[in-house]
Amino acid sequence: MQQQNSKQNGVLDLTSRVYKLVVELGKEGVLQSELWKKLNLTSRDGSRLAIRLEKRGLVKRERVLDNGRWTYKLTPLRLPIQIKSIEQAPCITCVVETKCAPNGIITPYTCSKIVEWVKQDYVANSQSSSEAM
Ligand code: SF4
Repeated sequence: MQQQNSKQNGVLDLTSRVYKLVVELGKEGVLQSELWKKLNLTSRDGSRLAIRLEKRGLVKRERVLDNGRWTYKLTPLRLPIQIKSIEQAPCITCVVETKCAPNGIITPYTCSKIVEWVKQDYVANSQSSSEAM
């Protein structure tokens, strides 16, 4: 059980790192193969993570021809105002993320993690705004 949890945490952490890199590399998009090299992932594992992010509506996966070979380009669908604001986003590492849907039993509309995250982000932004004055 513990081994299964740590494996799942590893996958969630990697998903978060893939998304963070896609966002950092910007709206021009990045080829999957470049990302897998940076993160030292096999293309099979990397593709699973990319599909997961695509299903969450976080990235667009577009089939492109690169040097005569078909691959995918990943582009962020939502660019946060600050990269820092997504680092703590609970959905990226949520263990029930695959069961969460707007019309599901588990839904963002009643998610306490989202509420906490928004509150913390609001407080952090309020503090940094008042420090800047
Ligand atoms: S909204 Fe809440 S339950 Fe749904 S994926 Fe995000 S953190 Fe998880």
